[in-house]
Amino acid sequence: MQTESSPFEPLICINRIDETADATTFEFKKIDDSLFEYKAGQFLTFEVDVAGELEYRAYSLSSTPSKPETAAVTIKRVAGGKVSNYLLDNLQPGFALPAMAPAGEFTLQDNQSTTELLLMSAGSGITPCMSMARWLLDTQQQVNIHFIYSARSEADVIMADTLDALNEQYDNFSLTRILEQTGNPNDIQGMLDAPLFEKLIPDNRGRTIFTCGPAPYMQAVEHLAESMGFDMALFHKESFVPEAADETSESGVNYQVAAPQYGKNFVVDENQSLLDALEAVGVPIISACRTGFCGACKCKVTGEVESSSQETLTPEQIEQGYVLSCSAKAGSDLVIEI
Ligand SMILES: Cc1cc2nc3c(=O)[nH]c(=O)nc-3n(C[C@H](O)[C@H](O)[C@H](O)COP(=O)(O)OP(=O)(O)OC[C@H]3O[C@@H](n4cnc5c(N)ncnc54)[C@H](O)[C@@H]3O)c2cc1C
Repeated sequence: MQTESSPFEPLICINRIDETADATTFEFKKIDDSLFEYKAGQFLTFEVDVAGELEYRAYSLSSTPSKPETAAVTIKRVAGGKVSNYLLDNLQPGFALPAMAPAGEFTLQDNQSTTELLLMSAGSGITPCMSMARWLLDTQQQVNIHFIYSARSEADVIMADTLDALNEQYDNFSLTRILEQTGNPNDIQGMLDAPLFEKLIPDNRGRTIFTCGPAPYMQAVEHLAESMGFDMALFHKESFVPEAADETSESGVNYQVAAPQYGKNFVVDENQSLLDALEAVGVPIISACRTGFCGACKCKVTGEVESSSQETLTPEQIEQGYVLSCSAKAGSDLVIEI
C-alpha cells in the first residue's frame, strides 16, 4: 500500500515468462493480496536499484484489469539500456519491486472511441494494445478488433501464443502480423505502407486507432491514417521514448530558483525544464517518462511557470501550484517543493 510519504508500493514478482529472446513478461501481486485497479492502456512506474543508483522507468501493463488479482508488464531489452537489461537479467519470482500507482491517459475510457477498433503496434508497443484487447474481449464488450502487429521476424513476435489464442477464441478479434521476414503463409511479409494499409482496411474510415511502437512506426501509421481519410479525432498514440530535446533552443532569461527542503538556490534558464535544472543541482527528484505523461516528477511551485503538460494532475493540484517539472519552464523567480 502507498503511504503519505512514498508514492511507491512494493509489488511481488510471482512469475516470469520469456516471450522472445529479448522480451519477458513479469507478473506481480500485491503484498497484502489486494486487487490492482487500472485502466487498460495504463502503465506502472518502477523504482529500480541498479548498482546502488535508483532509476525510474515506466512500463505499460500488458495484463487485463478484469483479472485484478495480478498485473503484468512485458519488457523488451534496449541495446545498452540500464534498466531493461537489469530487470531481464535479475528480476525473479519472489523479488519485490517498488511501483507507483497505475497512470496514463492512453486508455479507451479517456479517449474518444467507437466499437470498431484498430489496435496497431510494433515491437514492445504491443503491451498497451494487448491489455486493451484482453480487457474488451474478457468483459464481452460489443466491439470489433483488428489487431495489426509489426515485427522483424516470427521469433520477434511478443506474446505470439496469446495473440493466436485470442484469434482462435473470439470471432470479433482478427489478427494481422506484418513481418519483415517470414516463411509463415498466414503472415504478411514486408512493412506497413499505403497499398497494404488500403488492402487491410478497405472500408470504414470511422474506426478508432490506438497505436504504440517506435517513433518512425507511429509516424507512418499517423501519416497513413490521415492521408487515407481516417477521422483523426479517433487516432490515439502512446510513445515509449521521450521526444528529442530541442537542441536548437537558445539560452534565454535566467531566473532564481530556491528548493529550501534541499538547501538549494540556483539559476534556471527560461528554456530549461525544471526537471533538468533540479537534477543538475542534485535535488533527488523522481522522473520516469520525462514527456509529461506519467506524473512522477510532480512538484509544487510558487511563481510563474509555463507548462506544456498537466496530465495526471487534478484541478485541485493545479490550483495548489503543482506542475510536472519535466514539462514546466520558469517564467519568474520560483520556490519549489518536491
Ligand atoms: C509510458 C511508457 C510506457 C512504456 N512501456 C514499456 C513497455 O511496456 N515495455 C517496454 O519494454 N518498454 C516500455 N517503455 C520504455 C521503458 O520505460 C524504458 O524507456 C526502456 O525499457 C529503456 O530503458 P533502459 O533503462 O533499458 O534504457 P536507458 O538506459 O534509459 O536508455 C538507453 C538508450 O536507449 C534509448 N531508449 C530508451 N528507451 C528506448 C526504447 N523504448 N526503444 C529504443 N530505444 C530506447 C535511450 O534513448 C538511450 O539512448 C515505456 C515507456 C513509457 C514512457
